Amino acid sequence: MRRGEVIAIGSELLLGGRPDTNSLFLTEALAAVGVEVRFKSVVGDDEADIMAAIRTASRRAEVVVLTGGLGPTGDDLTRQAAARVTGRPLRRRAEAVEGMRQRLAAWGRTPSVAQMRQGLIPSGAEVIANPVGSAPGFCLTWNRCFLVALPGVPAEARGMFMAGVVPRLAAERATRRLPLIERRLLHTFGVAESDIEQRIKNRIPVKSGVRLGLQASPLGVTVSLTASGERGTLRGENKGARLLDRVLKDVQTRLGSCVYAEGSETMEQVVGRLLASRGLTLAVAESCTGGLIGHRLTQVPGSSAYLDRVVVCYSDQAKTELLDVPAELLLRYGAVSEEVARAMASGIRARSQASIGVSVTGIAGPGGGTAHKPVGLVFVALDADFSQGPKRRRNRTRLAQEFRFHGDRDTIKLRASQATMDVLRRCLIS
Ligand code: ATP
Ligand code: MG
Repeated sequence: MRRGEVIAIGSELLLGGRPDTNSLFLTEALAAVGVEVRFKSVVGDDEADIMAAIRTASRRAEVVVLTGGLGPTGDDLTRQAAARVTGRPLRRRAEAVEGMRQRLAAWGRTPSVAQMRQGLIPSGAEVIANPVGSAPGFCLTWNRCFLVALPGVPAEARGMFMAGVVPRLAAERATRRLPLIERRLLHTFGVAESDIEQRIKNRIPVKSGVRLGLQASPLGVTVSLTASGERGTLRGENKGARLLDRVLKDVQTRLGSCVYAEGSETMEQVVGRLLASRGLTLAVAESCTGGLIGHRLTQVPGSSAYLDRVVVCYSDQAKTELLDVPAELLLRYGAVSEEVARAMASGIRARSQASIGVSVTGIAGPGGGTAHKPVGLVFVALDADFSQGPKRRRNRTRLAQEFRFHGDRDTIKLRASQATMDVLRRCLIS
């Protein structure tokens, strides 16, 4: 397995306002060509610091990817640092200047003196064309380490890495018959991280080389299984992949219905797929989530096939006016109650004539909680009439569920949106 390292360069990344997101896709893209990222670092715009980071990384890794600091301004120091540390002086390179000239010409501009600095490339390095912006990148081999420099702008870094670097790393992997990293993901909701671990830890064969990872977020717990494949380039020949698929199946069986998705599928895609495949329609009544469920559902292309409407009914008056929730119910039980959640789901279903109505009401905080109804208390309800589906069999389901979430306002809203969709999902698969 080739060892990789990513160095994100830019003082803004150290100030707290802007996160380093480039290393996320770089890590994923590197893994796909058999390079395992072992270290990531963030360095400010300081030449000596950048040089030190490159020096350290090149001792530990075969592939080092730098991102940021290739622009035209005085604080962009990556090319100087790379040139000095590798002892390859900067030279103006015709293909780098020409690419930049062409790109700027397409925008009706000519390169400024500062921009011309972007045409300086360490001698002996290969230029990586920038099809999106003006700054070219470069790559070179130094001390048996393959060093790549990309701009910081995420779209440019991604485009250049995928087009200019990935093919050669993939070709090298194939030539040297190096193993691939195989990874499988299972997304769960509603079960605590420690319980998930308890259920599955003895399902990973000892010494199999399969590594188990658990990541908790407001959307649930993601289980990752990672294996470095055996030699061989074809998936069918890949023992690592076959072993991983076997373990995955076993883990999935152990976890049961709390697994809502595999790989990169999201909860909103899963419920969309289930609704579409059964020819059902959905109407949503949101209170504490303020439209988040509607946003998430409509992020899925083609959602108009099953999503009828989403109503944000924040006040008591809105719940009565838009969903016919009886004022007396609101008065007696309060807006955050099982009774009102049920009335909201039935109200939106009746008004919309959709096959399924779902609702959510809760206290997102930080204020508004009481001892009886604390922050994080959320009720989800569902009213479904599946007899509207293609089978025309009378089949009515009404249910409600109480949740107690913790976290800040954003987290509670996100968890509540996920819980609502999970209630819907479980109903659709039952
Ligand atoms: P240019 O100056 O030509 O845009 P550059 O290589 O100098 O390219 P930077 O100045 O470092 O790039 O960053 C440009 C933009 O990209 C900034 O908005 C910066 O915050 C963002 N950026 C830089 N590095 C990263 C990173 N690792 N992850 C996410 N965004 C980044
Ligand atoms: Mg910068």
